[in-house]
Amino acid sequence: MIIKTTFFPAKIKKSTKPNKALIGVGCNLGNCIRRFKKVYKFLNFHPKIDIVQTSIIYKNPPFGYLNQPDFYNTIFVIRTTFSVYELLYFLLYTEKKFGRQRSFKNAPRTLDLDIIMFNNLKINSKKLTIPHPHFRERDSVILPLHLLGKR
Ligand code: ADP
Ligand code: MG
Repeated sequence: MIIKTTFFPAKIKKSTKPNKALIGVGCNLGNCIRRFKKVYKFLNFHPKIDIVQTSIIYKNPPFGYLNQPDFYNTIFVIRTTFSVYELLYFLLYTEKKFGRQRSFKNAPRTLDLDIIMFNNLKINSKKLTIPHPHFRERDSVILPLHLLGKR
């Protein structure tokens, strides 16, 4: 199911920040749409981040661990002066701020922020895999990306 609401989708904004990244945003606990709006404002408020575009919100059934609520997914296209690792740590901090707890793989979550792409970087380290390993197989990423017109 496709959801359109304030900030989702949002049109292209100009930015002169040097690095471009795609952020996959996910949630399946609590009021996800409300949280997405707060996360949008929180990230956009940061002086090192400009959100230049957002996608629709896509509501879809869980995968992996099936006995949990439906997922909400969207995409942020950002410009940033953060390096890729600085961005990762800031996103992990943001997840924590919005109540994320880590229990088991594919567990329900209040907020998941994944770096799908960062410029045209390829990284395979312990902390970071870029482009994000499974995004090409996941409707939860592909559909919002497609509707952004950037595949
Ligand atoms: P998932 O997103 O697969 O459900 P988590 O959100 O719990 O899993 O992420 C766990 C770890 O994944 C993070 O601490 C981070 O170091 C690592 N990671 C690897 N590649 C990426 C990426 N492209 N974006 C975000 N985190 C990543
Ligand atoms: Mg994650």
